[in-house]
Amino acid sequence: MSSLLRRTKIVATLGPATDDPTVLRDMVEAGVDVVRLNFSHGQVADHARRVELVRRAAASAGRYVGVLGDLQGPKIRIDRFAGGKVQLADGAPFTLDASLPIDAGSETAVGIAYKKLPQDVFVGDVLLLNDGQISLQVEAIDGPRISTRVLVGGELGNNKGINRQGGGLSAGALTDKDRDDIRTAAALKVDYLAVSFARDAADMNEARSLLREAGGHALTVAKIERAEAIKNLPNIVRASDAVMVARGDLGVEMGYAELAGLQKQIIQEARHQNRVVITATQMMESMITNTIPTRAEVSDVANAVMDGSDAVMLSAETASGKHPTKVVEAMAQIIVGAEKYQVAHVRIRLRNSGQFERSDEAIAAAVMYTANHLNVRAIVAMTESGSTALWMSRVRSDIPIYAFTRHEMTRSRVTLYRGVYPVAFDVTDKDPHAFYYSVFRLLLELKLVTEGDFVILTKGELSGVAGGTNSMKILQVIRGPDAA
Ligand code: PGA
Ligand code: MN
Repeated sequence: MSSLLRRTKIVATLGPATDDPTVLRDMVEAGVDVVRLNFSHGQVADHARRVELVRRAAASAGRYVGVLGDLQGPKIRIDRFAGGKVQLADGAPFTLDASLPIDAGSETAVGIAYKKLPQDVFVGDVLLLNDGQISLQVEAIDGPRISTRVLVGGELGNNKGINRQGGGLSAGALTDKDRDDIRTAAALKVDYLAVSFARDAADMNEARSLLREAGGHALTVAKIERAEAIKNLPNIVRASDAVMVARGDLGVEMGYAELAGLQKQIIQEARHQNRVVITATQMMESMITNTIPTRAEVSDVANAVMDGSDAVMLSAETASGKHPTKVVEAMAQIIVGAEKYQVAHVRIRLRNSGQFERSDEAIAAAVMYTANHLNVRAIVAMTESGSTALWMSRVRSDIPIYAFTRHEMTRSRVTLYRGVYPVAFDVTDKDPHAFYYSVFRLLLELKLVTEGDFVILTKGELSGVAGGTNSMKILQVIRGPDAA
């Protein structure tokens, strides 16, 4: 149960390196809370098989693991080179040509998958290829051809991504492939759906309605990785259940020098709006090959924790790295190390209106204020949708929040909330005393408390109603008459 003491959650991307069921089980035991299916790679059958493996690994480890489906999005890419790759020299001319056959690239020109790109760029723009490794300056646009000069050259391989410095390439957020993948995500019953390169609230709303049409119940995650998303930050956050600080592409569009500041700004905005936030990309990059992290990586993960992330994410480190289990163990240790130094200060944030809008929100704030000033061992939130637990987890605290719920869907989604742990529990006792005893019995059985501890319990007068939490009790744990 010691893993329960870690509050910040770990998202691990699945891939070839995690396909061995033993590896996956070890990773889950090492502390993976949510797995990410990356729809940029692999076929539907791969994702289905992986979800099945994860659910089995979680069941055998006695843990809950959420599933996040991550859409590829309209990443604009170059086509392919006849020889697989080319060397671009600094100062050389190079043309991006929408009329070139898909595999006819050379040292002087390459095709582009997004045919409207020539209409979206302007003379003087700087285009960044391969996550910024190569940069090109646009010198002329002639029909389907964008003539550029190589500012920083190097090796360029097939299908590398293109970004514009400063953002603003106008490809819509959802491609035809994304629409198919949304249906796959719904069929696989993922808990979270991440929308890549979302620009604004409308992109998020469109993704959500397509998901609901396909019968999916997932919460939505806006990946903040475009300059437009930064411009529309409050709106895009409001239109999403969660956000991801997608530092890979964001660093290319906004320039990496501003990433640390942007990360803090995005996390703060998400928490302020009671949204969940994941910090992602290159967190433990050196462990793709090495067995221990660099000190800079230790510091990066720790700072993401201290900034208030709900979760930190592993990408290639687990999907295709050499040490998928070790990297999860190392990340878990760094999180626990960082959380020791986290000042547990209470900041009950009201919304902009200065008023609570719902009774469960008000109860959650009262609970956290009390919990941080009274010696309580645990908070038990009887919850249907998980919303009370979400409100509570927006307040910094060291006290664990147990989301007691009969819904499997709620148990898998709270896996992402900082400091919240799912517990399967169904309210069967109508008599209040019998009800409290059954809660105590389970807490004792799971060794989450010991006799004599104080706990705070919240519930709705009418249990079984989402958003109905309207009461808070301070209770001392005792063994009931019928406890074994
Ligand atoms: P990706 O998103 O790994 O799907 O590109 C995250 C990022 O850009 O940081
Ligand atoms: Mn990205």
